[in-house]
Amino acid sequence: MLHVDAYSRPISYLRISVTDRCNLRCVYCMPPEGVAWMPHEAILTYEEIVEVVRAAAELGISKVRLTGGEPLVRLDIEELVRGISQVPGIDDLAVTTNGILLPRHAAQLAEAGLHRVNISLDSLRPERYESITRGGHLEDVLEGMEAARRAGLDPIKINTVVIRGVNDDEVVDLARKTMEEGWHLRFIELMPVGGGDLIGDRWLDRVVTAEEIREEVESAVGRLEPAKISVGNGPARYYRLPGAQGTLGFITPISEHFCYRCNRMRLTADGQLRPCLLSDDEIDLRTPLRAGAGVEELKGLLLQGVERKPRSHHLAESLSPRRRTMSQIGA
Ligand code: SAM
Repeated sequence: MLHVDAYSRPISYLRISVTDRCNLRCVYCMPPEGVAWMPHEAILTYEEIVEVVRAAAELGISKVRLTGGEPLVRLDIEELVRGISQVPGIDDLAVTTNGILLPRHAAQLAEAGLHRVNISLDSLRPERYESITRGGHLEDVLEGMEAARRAGLDPIKINTVVIRGVNDDEVVDLARKTMEEGWHLRFIELMPVGGGDLIGDRWLDRVVTAEEIREEVESAVGRLEPAKISVGNGPARYYRLPGAQGTLGFITPISEHFCYRCNRMRLTADGQLRPCLLSDDEIDLRTPLRAGAGVEELKGLLLQGVERKPRSHHLAESLSPRRRTMSQIGA
């Protein structure tokens, strides 16, 4: 049975970070020196994660997304996908990835039961991509997208964090990809989460709002008409450019928060349940799991998470740095 929280929001979605490690060092996500990795023994095993998913599914959670860090750097990730895909009640299983390792994994992930992927891509220019990610190669991501397409992972959504003075001059080129190549692209407003160089006192100056992007795209390309996307019930609002096969979405945590329709909780790689991405409140699932907690006890803890979901975040008002970076929470 689907559970609703104190603000009448049905909670149907669990995002699971499978590792805090990443093969990139995006400037807005991680500090240049990196972050201290969680010790291996702190990270949930695949059996432990599947146990949590089993409990979640019994509470009516039907959608699971694996994230990180970079989920595809964790060894034998396909085995976790296989385990989760076999849990009764899970009908939407997705991964958020930077795409670099998709050429190696896409076919096996699809075969193991993965439905779809979101791929993060912040620039179409190779040198800029390399500088934003501190060392990544654009070509690898494009090959990853192609591998995902060949493997039948569908839809493929592309996520772009737009940052003033970094990649905001590419929004029109990116938007055109929805017409030229049928991309399902989402522009995301920069959040003050994480230890990246750009998340300091001047963070708000770096935020480019959806409204600004929309105006620029409409004046360069054409009117955006509201659109629907076949799969997913996340926070994006979708539009379509004239004649485009693909869609353009906006995720607006800053200019128009979408907490009132939040349907999710998060599990960190070290087994902490976070009712809200932007609150440091956490419920420890790892200790009970390792003390032999079964599905019933886990359901009780997950329900506490549902009950502890705050009404909304206060990002635009508070600039206090968060305890964990995005790569450590799993976004
Ligand atoms: N490594 C995977 C990836 O690159 O998609 C999954 C983890 S990454 C933390 C998930 C998403 O969070 C990426 O799309 C990334 O761009 C986004 N992200 C990270 N830090 C962010 C921030 N400060 N504001 C907005 N989005 C952020």
